[in-house]
Amino acid sequence: MKLIDLETGKNGVIKAVGGEGALRQHLLDMGVIPGSKVRIVKYAPMGDPVEIKIHGYELTIRLSDANNIEVEPVSTGDEEKSTVQKMIEHPGLGEGGRFHTKGSGNPLPDDTKLTFALVGNQNSGKTTLFNQLTGSNQHVGNFPGVTVDRKDGPIKGNPLTVVTDLPGIYSMSPYSTEEIVSRNFVLEEKPLGIINIVDATNIERNLYLTMQLLEMDIPLVVALNMMDEVRENGGTVNINEMEMMLGVPVVPISAAKNEGVGELVSHALHVAHFREKPLNQDFCDENDNGGAVHRCIHAVSVLIEDHAKAAGLPLRFAASKVIEGDSLVIDKLSLDENEKEMLEHIVLQMENERGLDRQAAMADMRFSFIKKVCRDTVKKPHESKERKRSEKIDRILTGKYTAIPAFVLIMALVFFLTFNVIGAWLQSLLDLGITYLSDLTDTLLTNANVNEVLHGLIIDGIFTGVGSVLSFMPIIVTMFFFLSLLEDSGYIARVAFVMDKLLRKIGLSGRSIVPMLIGFGCTVPAVMSTRTLPSERDRKMTILLTPFMSCSAKLPIYAFFVDAFFTEHKWLIITGLYLLGILMGVLNALLYRGTVFKGDAVPFVMELPNYRMPGVKNVTQLLWEKAKDFLQRAFTVIMIASIVVWLLQSFDIHFNLVEDSADSILALIAGVLAPVMIPAGLGDWRICTALISGFMAKESVVSTLQVMFDADVTSVLSNATAASLLVFSLLYTPCVAAVAAVKREMGRRWAIGVVLWQCGIAWVAAVITRLICMLF
Ligand code: GDP
Ligand code: MG
Repeated sequence: MKLIDLETGKNGVIKAVGGEGALRQHLLDMGVIPGSKVRIVKYAPMGDPVEIKIHGYELTIRLSDANNIEVEPVSTGDEEKSTVQKMIEHPGLGEGGRFHTKGSGNPLPDDTKLTFALVGNQNSGKTTLFNQLTGSNQHVGNFPGVTVDRKDGPIKGNPLTVVTDLPGIYSMSPYSTEEIVSRNFVLEEKPLGIINIVDATNIERNLYLTMQLLEMDIPLVVALNMMDEVRENGGTVNINEMEMMLGVPVVPISAAKNEGVGELVSHALHVAHFREKPLNQDFCDENDNGGAVHRCIHAVSVLIEDHAKAAGLPLRFAASKVIEGDSLVIDKLSLDENEKEMLEHIVLQMENERGLDRQAAMADMRFSFIKKVCRDTVKKPHESKERKRSEKIDRILTGKYTAIPAFVLIMALVFFLTFNVIGAWLQSLLDLGITYLSDLTDTLLTNANVNEVLHGLIIDGIFTGVGSVLSFMPIIVTMFFFLSLLEDSGYIARVAFVMDKLLRKIGLSGRSIVPMLIGFGCTVPAVMSTRTLPSERDRKMTILLTPFMSCSAKLPIYAFFVDAFFTEHKWLIITGLYLLGILMGVLNALLYRGTVFKGDAVPFVMELPNYRMPGVKNVTQLLWEKAKDFLQRAFTVIMIASIVVWLLQSFDIHFNLVEDSADSILALIAGVLAPVMIPAGLGDWRICTALISGFMAKESVVSTLQVMFDADVTSVLSNATAASLLVFSLLYTPCVAAVAAVKREMGRRWAIGVVLWQCGIAWVAAVITRLICMLF
């Protein structure tokens, strides 16, 4: 029977995994392999996707993918008994002696910079550990060629080291950008050591990545994280035994409680310095299911040995990937036709003997070994309090009838607190500071008899421009504070689970909901938050859609015009504008889906982690990064832009200072623009100027209009013009800060494209609005 025919709460054993390509590989890598036990936990409120439990953790997949999985119902989940019964104290440093006291081998010169890659599953505690390792002494950037965050820094107290935090991944298959980034980092930048962080509460799935990392033939230390949780719930791990089986040092730690981190560091330094490679890579048992997989891997290894060497690939890794049919690796090896044919024969033979296809056979081989390791060395904790708590919370937050109301409530609360309470309060505080500073400078400049032009430039250009943008910083930082709470606690994963079905209709996956929501606050953090999305396609498409979510800076424009022109239907019109934005977003999504971003969103295979208290250190670190990022931008892009606008509106074409800004270069430019805007009823150069200034910051549309029309804009404009102006303001180019964010994520061409495209849409919509208004 199909997986989805299994009743909720009932157990089954997987018989076959259908489907193809990268998605199937990903499912296998996540432990969905023939022979594994599964249980249907629940369906999302909209009926799709479905949450399943496998290898002791929760995974969500779409019904269409679940439909490819064949299962056979079983009565009870008779877990394989662990042989580890009693509590085993964690051995001290040096105990066992095998890995710790070696100190021989082939040491690197003492002044070699030891480079480490920090690799692990998502939610395994990577960020927490990274922050513990590096303190605040870290550098944030992008991996070359892709916009995936790259963080590195020296280990505290060891200046001759660099740890690079790689994206959270589940396997070394080229499934998502993250996986390719991590894989290429290890293969090409050749770190001297790997710190593999493993979530001990979810050990089977986490060790799957470890198995593949061991194949990279690079000194490696396993950091067994979350040991505090394991211990508290009566679980234990026989560390010495596990080290023997894996052939690398294993260090139990708790990143959150800073336990064992020092020990981890000393092991990591040791293996890297002495170049102690993993002792064991050969995990395929020759007695396992007739040994077909074992023989296949070894035969392939022999066949490709010289090619792998020439291509600079670790042999065991290359052999596994060739068998799995990884085209990137196969291309790199440049095998000739004859060899390819031979390979195919070997693999076919294995498939026949093993009774599984190549990918499933390889995944099965890895999981069989992991099962053995767990049976011999791990006493599983009983159902932890964290797990029970998560289930209780989930009953409401992903419950059939409560999920969506809870979501609306939580988001409303976040927005309310951000924009009305905390953020607004901080903003007014900062505004006060900026005003004070600006006034002070003003007085100083006046007293010092500074040249009037320079004076104007500093006060009206730089202070006003940078200040108005800077004052958004508190809101953005507060927004990120709440988002990181939601993210770190594990709620965001649930939102994606609940909303996936809806977003799929426009070609995205549930994960894109977050940036869109933030977009209602401010497009800048919205664009930045797309970094959490797993695929480049989804990320780009989501970035292009965020400007349609009407940002909070446009609210003053709406409020002003609605008060002046449409008092009777105030809320109707404001709500209508928001809805119009969403509608245009949906239409655009459908358009992108059929053109630039063909195909479907990444399949939605996602883990639902336990709810956890977010770490204070992680959150503060993140806030500091965001604030720094924002400040940097405010004093570069935005400062320059402000200066340019000020210059344009203060001088005429002959660079004489103008009395009336109607004679300025800006007016001239606006005048050129004006005829274009006539069909929309916005042909007045002053309106055009206001719209141009709105490019700096949307709020300034209103203030510029007020200044230019001598505070009497209402008597000049008609209702139709006002409506058209509202629609235009809603849809036209995002402000310069947002465009800069788009440029950073997607590059200059896309950024310019966004500006032109949005203006075009806005123009068409404004013209249509005016026509409709004139009909009535
Ligand atoms: P990442 O996704 O791998 O970067 O994981 P994070 O560092 O964000 O951690 C995920 C969650 O696990 C956070 O809520 C952490 O506070 C929590 N966490 C991390 N390390 C530990 C630990 O050693 N013990 C416990 N109990 N929780 C931890
Ligand atoms: Mg993280």
